[in-house]
Order: sequence, then structure tokens, then C-alpha cells
Amino acid sequence: MPLLDMTFVRIALLIAMMLLSGVTMAGSQSAYAPVEGLLSVVWGDAATPGRNAPIRAMLTDDEGRTRRIKVSDDLLNRGLLRWNGQRVRVYPRSGDTGDASDLDVGEVRAAAVQLVALTSTSTAVTGSQPWISILCKFADVAAEPKDLAFFEGMYANMPGGLDHFWRELSYDQIDVVGSTAVDWVTLPGNQADYAPTPGSGTDANLNQVFDDCTAAVDDIVDFSRGGEPFVGINIMLNEDLDCCAWGGNRYATLDGVAKNWRTTWNPPWSFRNEGIIAHEMGHGFGLHHANNFDDDGNPYDSPWDVMSAATAYGSVDETYGELGKHTNVWHKDILGWFPPTQRFEAQPDTIVTLELDALAAADAGHYRVAIVPVDADHLYSVEARQRVGLYDAELPGNAVIIHQVDMTRPEPAWAVDADVPPANYGDNPGTMWEPGETFIDPDNGLAIKVERETANGFVVTIGRPTIPQVFRDGFDEATASLRPGSKIISTDTH
Ligand SMILES: [Zn+2]
Repeated sequence: MPLLDMTFVRIALLIAMMLLSGVTMAGSQSAYAPVEGLLSVVWGDAATPGRNAPIRAMLTDDEGRTRRIKVSDDLLNRGLLRWNGQRVRVYPRSGDTGDASDLDVGEVRAAAVQLVALTSTSTAVTGSQPWISILCKFADVAAEPKDLAFFEGMYANMPGGLDHFWRELSYDQIDVVGSTAVDWVTLPGNQADYAPTPGSGTDANLNQVFDDCTAAVDDIVDFSRGGEPFVGINIMLNEDLDCCAWGGNRYATLDGVAKNWRTTWNPPWSFRNEGIIAHEMGHGFGLHHANNFDDDGNPYDSPWDVMSAATAYGSVDETYGELGKHTNVWHKDILGWFPPTQRFEAQPDTIVTLELDALAAADAGHYRVAIVPVDADHLYSVEARQRVGLYDAELPGNAVIIHQVDMTRPEPAWAVDADVPPANYGDNPGTMWEPGETFIDPDNGLAIKVERETANGFVVTIGRPTIPQVFRDGFDEATASLRPGSKIISTDTH
């Protein structure tokens, strides 16, 4: 066949393929139009933590209609959580009828060119964060488990109070000044109207609880606070909901203010130990669950993080029970709590030795966070932990904790454990990186060595290689074996 004819055939084929694909795309778009709106995520936490923590996602469109998005593993694996609080465009897999039914979503994308980097400050939370606690009784349950003074005192700037807690965790970047509580009111519905199977299941009608509870106090609460609205609402209930306490965001218009309200829904077991309330407020601030390294689906087995095992290895207050502890340094970083002078980010082809002040220690003028970027979805964070301050005083010990952050799983930050297999609970030596030990991730070409403990934290060396340089202390190139005291992690299995 002459050359020209061959070219013609190829062009004709190409045009035919374009036409065919165009028809398909047009058909799919007309049947299932994308929907834009604000994405809100709510996390559930069971009284007796099971293997999986339920996650809900809601989309509020421009008409103010809020619908649930079915949260599939596939959506989570593709990074759904990164869009929490952002304007997104979702692509339903089935027809969007425009009513209040759930959206079965195949894909979520940013609505604008607004890609959120892992360390973006667009999720920053700084300044005063006034919350209000609303105490709501089910119509058929008379109990008032705690009195108003208890809930007012919970926000105090005193040891054990939430204002004191958030100040310590954030290095005074946030407080909860302006927070308050209002006394018990009665909901219009019975317990089973809001939670069909009290104490179990995941089907509590959180939106109805929110709507009825805020309506019940509407004539005594100005949610707009005269122009400086509350940021969040802690709903305190007098009996169980479903399985869980819940924390996240809820879009609503209250006293003329239309926005995403940071919201928590708390049964009595939740406010018996303040660490749980701190954990739910953390979800309200946009924080994910943290985790240990055992990949068992249970996100409550890292004792180093209020966003994992909220109360384990915590201090105890005689009024407010088990308190929370600090959260991992990556969480603090995305909330925008570190000035550049306290934030180290490892650059390619560098080996740097630096001192990290412990998360709960006083500022001694060193770094507080070290971030080792890997790619758009992955990084490592390095933090020093010591048994100091009020909230980290009862930790399992003093150690460097390394978190592997992966935005494509439900709990992005996992505390790296050198044990094989990883321990069931993250209070083990494998999770506590001590002087002389080196973490090596050969697949991503990085090494983190703990040099020594100081009065205020730890000195670490972070290398992003040239491989031979980085392995100089932990790895014997001649025999290709680890030196004593080194730990090696293969990322292949995770
Ligand atoms: Zn949670």
C-alpha cells in the first residue's frame, strides 16, 4: 500500500476512535451530572473500639442541600479525606435525583484548581476557637448525667481543662476562649427516633440530632456571637446514640451564619473521660485518626496520639477523668502551628543533624518538627517525645516517634514499628526509636538516626541520599548488613 494511503487509513481510524469516545463521554455526562459542593467528613468512635471506625462524608451543594456520600474503600484509597472542608466536584455513579438520598460517588475532585499539598496551611487552625456545649436529653430519658457546672468547667484554662489542653498542644497557637455551655434541654424525639438501635450500629441520624438540639436552645443561644460566631458545637447527650461518639463538621445556617460548624456528638461514656472529647474536637478541627503500624484496621492502638488511643497512657484528672495527650507532629503541622524556625524539611541529597524539642517540652529554641517528603501522597514525620508537660507525662517512655504518612488510607499517620510483625499495640520498643538506632527506608532512599537524648528532646540525623552516604552509620556497605542497633523497615509490605 502506498505511503499516503496508509497515512489516510491511520487518520480515518483516529477520527473514528475520537468520535466513538466522544459519544461515550457525552452519554455518561448527561446521565450522571457532577455535583459541586462543600465536603464534610465525620468520624465515628465506638465505646468499645472495634476493628474499623466508621467514616461518613457529606456534600452540601450551593442550594444548601446536604446529602451523604457513600464512603467506599475505593474512595478512601483514592484520598477522599484530603478534601475534607474543601469545595469539591463529585461524579455520581448513579443518577442524581436531586433529593436527599445518598450519592453513590465514583470520584471526587477539587472543584477549582486547588490541589491540597500534604503540608498545606489551608487547613490551618489558629487563634481563639470558641465552642459551645449543648446538653440535650432524649424525650423519653430523664437522666442528667453531669450538671452545667461540669460542662462549663471542662473549658477552663486550668490543668485538666480543654483551654489548657489545646494551648499546650498548639504552643498557644489556639485556645478555646469564649467557650461556654448551656443547661439541659429536651429534644422533641425519643432516643430510638434518633438511634434505632441504641448502643450499636452506625445509623444514628446525626443531622436530626444536630437540627433538633440547636433548635432547642435557639432562643437562649446566639450562635453568631454578634459577628464572631462559635467555631464549634459539642452536643452532649444523656444516653447512647448508635455505636459511637462522632466528631467532624456539619453544614448549617444558625442565627444567620451559614457555614461548616465543627461538631461533636457525645453519649455519656464520651464525656466521662475528657480525652474522648478532645479526640472528637480534634476531628472537628479536621484531624484524622492516627494509628500504629500493625495494619489491623483498628485505629486506636497508638498510645502516642490523642487521635488514636485517646486516653491510654494519659494523665488523670479527678473531675474529668483520663485526659488526652499530644497528637502527632504531622497533625500539628497541617494545623499550621509551627513557625518556619521550628520546622525542618529534609531536602534531597542532604544529610543533616538537628535537635528536636520534645512535643510537650518548653521551647528551647530548636526544631519541633522534621518532615521528610516522599511524593505527593507520602511523607515521614519525625518527633521527639518525653514524659513532660501535663498531657505527655504518662507516655510509655522517652523516644523519637516516626510517622509514615500515606494520604490514601483512612488513618494517614502510622507510627513506624521495626518489629516483624509489628506489635498489636504501639507501646513496644520497636515503635520507640532510641539513641543508636537508625530507621532506613531503602525503597524511598532515606534514613533517620537517633543520635542522643538531650534535656529537652533528641538529636537526630536525617539523610536523603546518595545512598552510600546515608547508610554510613547504620549500614555496612562491605557486608551489606545492618550494624548493631539498626532497624530496617521494608515498605513493600505496607
Ligand atoms: Zn475518632
